[in-house]
Order: sequence, then C-alpha cells, then structure tokens
Amino acid sequence: MTKIISKSRFVSGIQCSKKVYFDIHRKDLKPIISEQQELLFATGHKIGELAQSAFPNGKDASPENYYDFSKSIQDTKDWIDAGIDTIYEAAFSSHGVLAALDILHHTENERWAIEVKSSSEVKKYHLTDASLQYWVMNKSGLKPDKFFLMHINTAYIKQGEINPDELFTLADITQQVIENQDWVTENLEKLKTIIAGEKEPVVEIGKHCNAPFSCDYKHHCWKHIPEQSVFSLYSPRGLDWNLYQQGIFKIIDIPENTPLNHRQNLQVNGQKNTASHIDQARINEFLNTWEFPLYFFDFETIFPALPVLDGTRPFQQVPFQYSLHILKQAGGEYIHKEFLAEPIDFNISSVDPRKKLIEQMKLDFGETGSIVAYNATFEISRLKELAIAFPEDQVFIEELISRFVDLLVPFRNGWHYEPEMGGSASIKAVLPAIAPAFSYEDLEISNGGDASNIFLSMINNTFEGDFNATRQHLLKYCERDTYGMVVIWKYLVENTKS
Ligand code: SF4
Repeated sequence: MTKIISKSRFVSGIQCSKKVYFDIHRKDLKPIISEQQELLFATGHKIGELAQSAFPNGKDASPENYYDFSKSIQDTKDWIDAGIDTIYEAAFSSHGVLAALDILHHTENERWAIEVKSSSEVKKYHLTDASLQYWVMNKSGLKPDKFFLMHINTAYIKQGEINPDELFTLADITQQVIENQDWVTENLEKLKTIIAGEKEPVVEIGKHCNAPFSCDYKHHCWKHIPEQSVFSLYSPRGLDWNLYQQGIFKIIDIPENTPLNHRQNLQVNGQKNTASHIDQARINEFLNTWEFPLYFFDFETIFPALPVLDGTRPFQQVPFQYSLHILKQAGGEYIHKEFLAEPIDFNISSVDPRKKLIEQMKLDFGETGSIVAYNATFEISRLKELAIAFPEDQVFIEELISRFVDLLVPFRNGWHYEPEMGGSASIKAVLPAIAPAFSYEDLEISNGGDASNIFLSMINNTFEGDFNATRQHLLKYCERDTYGMVVIWKYLVENTKS
C-alpha cells in the first residue's frame, strides 16, 4: 500500500532518512510518550485554541480520527467554494502528500495560510513544514497569497484575560516558502523511495541526531556508544565528532597529543588514571570571602508559554517556591525555612503570590551573611525581575543580590574534579561524586522540571492526584536541593583545610 507523506513524516525525513523509515516500518522502536511530552501537547493544544480565537467564527475541519482525512479534505474544499472566511485545521492532499493547516483565512482579497507555533520566534525548521504545506496547497490548486507563522510574542504582558491579538505575532514567511518549493519537490521524491524501500537506509549517527530535535531512536542507533564516551566531554565544540570519526569512542582512548582545555584535561586524566583534582588554595581563598550566617538558597519556578500571572510575559520564569538552610556559625545547627505558594493565588488577581514570597523572604533572611546558590545567576535574575515587578521592595531585593556567592564556581572553574562528575559541573553531577550516600531516590519528586510541571498543573486545574501529599513532595524536593548545597560546602571546607 502506498504510504501517505504527512507533514510530520516530511519533517522527520528532512532530519534523517532512517528516522522517517523507522517512523513507518519500526513502530516497535518508538519510545512511549513521556508525561513531559503530554504536557507539551496539552499546552500546544491550548495555544492553538487561543490562536483560533484571534480569527473567530471559523469552521473546524478537524478529522474524526487521524487515520482518515478524506472528510476534512472534502470539507475544506467545499467551505472554500462556499466562501467561508476562516477554516481551522484545513486539510489538503495532492500527489500522495497530506497537509493540515492550523488556520486558513480569507481577507477581502487574499488567501492566508497560518501555521501556529508555541515558540517565541521563527525557527529554521518551521520553514520545513510550512514549505511542504505551501507545496500541497499549490498542487491542490488552492495556493495561498500569504503564508504566516503565528508565534508567541514574548513582549506581551498579561493583564486580565489573555488577549490573543497581542499574545501572538504574525511573521510573513511567504517569500521563504516560495523559494523552498524546488527543494520540497526534490526531497519528496527521495522520501517516497525511502519509505517504499524494503530495507532501512544506511545512515551513520551524526549531528543530525540532535538537531533540530533530539531523535527518538537514539536508544537504538547509539547503542554502540559507551558510557564516558567522547560525547560526554566537557564543552567539546566539535572535538567529540572529530574523535568519533577517527574511531575513538571512549574518553580513555583519547590520544595524549589531543589539544584539550583545562576542564577537558581534568576529565580525560580523571578517566584514564581515576585521578581527582583539588586546588585547595584557590577554594580556600574563595570560601574565606563568605560571611556567616550562610544562607543556602534555591528557587523553583514555572515558565509557562501562556502567562498565568498579571504583569508577567510568556515563558517568564516565575518563582513559586524556595528552600533556605541557614548556618549561623561554623559547626552550628542548621535552621531550615521554606516557602511554597498556593496554586489558587495564581488565579486570583487581588493576590500576587510573588508578593507573599517576598514578604516571607523578609522574615527568613537576616541583614548580614552570604547567600549561597548553585548557579547564582538564576536566582539573581529572578530577584531582579521581582524588584522590577515590586519597586517598593527594590531596596530589600538589591541588598540580597549584593550578598550572593556561587557554589558552582569551584566546579565550573575546575578547581575541584572527581572522575564521577563526567563532563558536568551541575549539582546533580557533583553531589553523587563527592557524597555517594546523598540521593534524591527516596523522593517522589526528584527534579526541577517535574516540580515545575506539577505546580503548573495545580494552577491550571489539570493536576490529578493527592494535592496535599504532593505539596509535601514539592517541599521535600526543594529542601533536598539546599541541603545538597550544605553537603557540598562542608565537603569543600573539610577537604581544603591546611
Ligand atoms: S538516531 Fe540519528 S541516525 Fe538514528 S534515526 Fe535518529 S537521526 Fe537517524
């Protein structure tokens, strides 16, 4: 049976011919859709509905099931003939290629094709599917006069109900998609041959496995890549592929004369000789600049494409939680403080949960002492945003910012390295290397991405589960993060004593 080429198959095939072959012939290799992906789909769906409301009163040509577009194609044609101005999910088919378009809109004298994207700008790969859609519409005799990408406008600031006319930007990409038409024709021919083939195409792994998307089939094609491979090299800048093409897969096989920077040298030497490195003097000097009490601090944030709080932008990082471990003096007891917003506060315009967070910080932070974060730029950026949103708290926030120190520095600068850290200085790589007993494994929520998604689902009323128990899980996760910083700091102090 002839296989239809859809937009998603075309995009897959442009990334890699083996990928599109697997999409069709090796469904057994396709990973199960993760919760993270489900959430992205749900957000995409919501964004699609909002985009439609910017072109209201359209007729919806969505198919009843995604294996049969015949009615959608016929409806689209009939409704265009009947002079319907706006059609959602308009479907077109020609030469064995199928394309559904988010919005087809007729102005007084132009036919507009509009494809909606949940991103903040036009990306190169968006032109791939738009060019295919234009090709199919053209071959169907329904060529659009203009082709637009409707993407999120990150300058938009929510006030009250989201205004779709302001939330989105229409980018005119007509010229680019027209210029791509011969390229589409050539690639469709190639794809048809690949799809009809009995054997999977021979394609080596390469940079295309990660761009524009991390491929779903890496678990299959990358099986021969060992752990601690050249691809885990710190900031490789092409060196990884260079070595791979010379047949060097493992870090321990990297030749002695390979030019490496300081961090890479530590990593290669660490792997080859199980060698640690610690620059006691530099770390000591660095830690001696810190002042007691020490405040080990961490924010958790949401960054929704559709802003939920008035005064925030799409994709803005909005803190909803923090954990704080306070150590008044060396050898003293730790005090733990925390804040977790109420999801309902994100939906009641008279209460801003960020204001409550600031008020709690005023109670929890003393007037002196260093504030320790891991990758402090993140916390400082959030605080700067809070100072803009709440000018009355600017002095307090700026005073806090002036006290920040960054626990990442000794690891990012390679002052301390353990082979178990691999090529990463992230807290999730450093902690197990220096404190193997420390773990997140007993926690229900064990990473920031999950914490963020769960809290956002509570705000959006899509959360399913035990609300109160999950709030406790969120608190425990954030607490573990700042406790992890305490563990790292103690380790550095103890291992740099002269
Ligand atoms: S992992 Fe790489 S080679 Fe394999 S199908 Fe995906 S893109 Fe192609």
